[in-house]
Amino acid sequence: MSSPRPRTARRLRAIPPTIFSAMSALALRTGSLNLGQGFPDRDGPPAVVEAAVEALRSGRNQYPPGVGIPELREAVAGHQERHYGIELDPLSQVVVTAGATEAIAAAVLAFVNPGDEMVVLEPFYDSYVACIEMAGGVRRPVTLHAPDFRLDVDELRAAVTPRTTTILLNTPHNPTGAVLTREELQAVAELAVEHDLLVVTDEVYEHLLFDGRRHVPICTLPGMWERTVSISSAGKTFSFTGWKVGWVTGPAELVDTVMSAKQWLTFANAAPLQPAVAFALSQEAAYYDTLAKELQAKRDLLVAGLRELDLDVYPPEATYFVTTDVRRYGHQDAMAFCLALPERAGVVAVPCQVFYDNQEAGRHLVRWAFCKETSVLEEAVGRLQAADLRG
Ligand code: PMP
Ligand code: GLN
Repeated sequence: MSSPRPRTARRLRAIPPTIFSAMSALALRTGSLNLGQGFPDRDGPPAVVEAAVEALRSGRNQYPPGVGIPELREAVAGHQERHYGIELDPLSQVVVTAGATEAIAAAVLAFVNPGDEMVVLEPFYDSYVACIEMAGGVRRPVTLHAPDFRLDVDELRAAVTPRTTTILLNTPHNPTGAVLTREELQAVAELAVEHDLLVVTDEVYEHLLFDGRRHVPICTLPGMWERTVSISSAGKTFSFTGWKVGWVTGPAELVDTVMSAKQWLTFANAAPLQPAVAFALSQEAAYYDTLAKELQAKRDLLVAGLRELDLDVYPPEATYFVTTDVRRYGHQDAMAFCLALPERAGVVAVPCQVFYDNQEAGRHLVRWAFCKETSVLEEAVGRLQAADLRG
């Protein structure tokens, strides 16, 4: 029986359902090629799967420590040291989470009081909006504008008010594929130091950079270590997005504060997958380079295919995604374009407007994922080229 009393708590009412589930369901329902949700259609290294099987068979199936098993925390510390020269104490400066998603939720719950303002890059990764809403925080977007999605330092500065406590950063950036330059990071750092802000940085695409670019963790910039909480995850780096093993690193006091939220969210997670991710993190440097190179070739394939269409294409510097503007096709509204796409072309993509408060900037943008088999991308491009996509 329905009740006149609204059952959904107020904190959820302003948060729309995630676009990723909707678009993957649409792809399934229509039998379309799914260039929407960002997940690879090929699993990561078989040896890593074997390590997980071995862990399942050898009885690693009960609660692991909430902070994560020691070997994974050590492996995360070793990875940070080898790649970035960051020295971490695995006992106090690393916490394992249920993917980056839990790390983001725990960090927001841990650091944001109701009414606190968080500066966030727009377009946003959708869970940021949901977590800030659930925590009662207020987002202050700073728009990365097409075509190159650079950070406008004056806009960043203007977004900081006396109520700002935190900057939530994402580099490499989903959905635009922009990689913040050292100069842009420097500007963020200077502002954070000047206003005594905390920086929570989501770096899940840290190994998926193209054209010889290298990821720079903002915590390595002067004055930043003590005010930065860094988040990453195994999903993208090892092509196991369904494993949901992530981690938070930073000064012990901040990591401990994130843990105080995490313990009441999942408490602990992914017991048999943690040893496998520890093993994965010990991969040689060549693994990471090969992964980025393969993905770069797929980026090039999809970008070239989309350029044959009547679209403005903004090639990414990193990540799984390329953004296009569909206005030259006669579409002002990316949502309508994406909802019609399965029927017109048998392809699914994601409308970026759901990642924007500033609809002027985002209403006509569409995101396409290229973390797919080459044959799938070729088929998708063929379908798009054969279809009539005019508005
Ligand atoms: N942050 C960004 C920017 C992402 O694109 C994603 C999606 N993988 C996540 C966080 C979530 O990561 P995970 O799957 O490890 O929870
Ligand atoms: N990160 C993935 C994307 O941007 C999706 C993750 C999710 O479905 N929550 O497509």
